[in-house]
Amino acid sequence: MTETGQDRRLAAVWRDATVVDVRHHGDLAVILRLEVPDRVVHRPGQHYVIRLRAEDGYTASRSYSAVSAPSDDHVEIYVERVPDGEVSGFLAEVVEPGDELECRGPIGRWFAWDGHTPALGIGGGSGVAPLVSMLRHARDVGRPELLSLAVSARTAADLPYREELEAAGALVALTRERGARGLGPSRLDGAVVGAITDPGATAFVCGSARFTLAMESYLLSAGQPEGSIRVERFGPSGEIEEEEASE
Ligand SMILES: Cc1cc2nc3c(=O)[nH]c(=O)nc-3n(C[C@H](O)[C@H](O)[C@H](O)COP(=O)(O)OP(=O)(O)OC[C@H]3O[C@@H](n4cnc5c(N)ncnc54)[C@H](O)[C@@H]3O)c2cc1C
Repeated sequence: MTETGQDRRLAAVWRDATVVDVRHHGDLAVILRLEVPDRVVHRPGQHYVIRLRAEDGYTASRSYSAVSAPSDDHVEIYVERVPDGEVSGFLAEVVEPGDELECRGPIGRWFAWDGHTPALGIGGGSGVAPLVSMLRHARDVGRPELLSLAVSARTAADLPYREELEAAGALVALTRERGARGLGPSRLDGAVVGAITDPGATAFVCGSARFTLAMESYLLSAGQPEGSIRVERFGPSGEIEEEEASE
């Protein structure tokens, strides 16, 4: 799964993806499955840019991580509906099967897992999306033991892909609800993250700026080498241009 220069050139081309499935996660989010023509197979952790175009030519682009495994025929994305969100609102409310969406990708060389070396994934809310791609890939290549996961959401209902994550043995912290084992609300705090820190693994941390900052500092305090920590922030997307410039 090594990315070549040609892969990167092809990934930069805008393509018309067809929406083949739309699944709503309550009012919280939508899961879209896309048929992307002549796609470059992604590495778990990478993302796509989706571009919406209005009739007057106005465009808005946002990044969404691939949730699907590289082996999947389709690209799955999980779009959390952000209040007043321009792109997430449209994707969650308007898009239907058969619609076409402009997209390009996969993008991201740093936040990508090869599937053959130990990895620790820590995700908050929609930040679990790229970790689920890693999980599916780990199963595909028969190396689930290489990937440890710790995820956090406010409630069980808020946690994307909860059943799949629990079935894989992910450590689940619910900050506003009692856990399945009757425990009180829990958090990925310094003690919990310290207990799962693995200096021999690459740590992939994904979520809001606040979440990723906290997790990074817990990991560093617990002895995770700085160079083994990779962070993806799902913040406001004015960052796209900068992020692309650094690709
Ligand atoms: C590399 C990368 C991968 C990403 N992958 C995913 C993914 O898999 N799933 C996913 O749901 N999102 C993901 N995001 C975030 C996504 O790109 C958008 O930022 C998000 O969907 C909001 O866009 P919008 O147009 O709906 O909101 P906007 O119209 O841009 O913003 C509306 C309001 O919400 C605030 N806001 C913007 N983004 C967020 C956010 N993420 N959380 C809280 N408030 C926000 C803005 O500051 C503004 O006040 C990713 C971002 C990056 C950089």
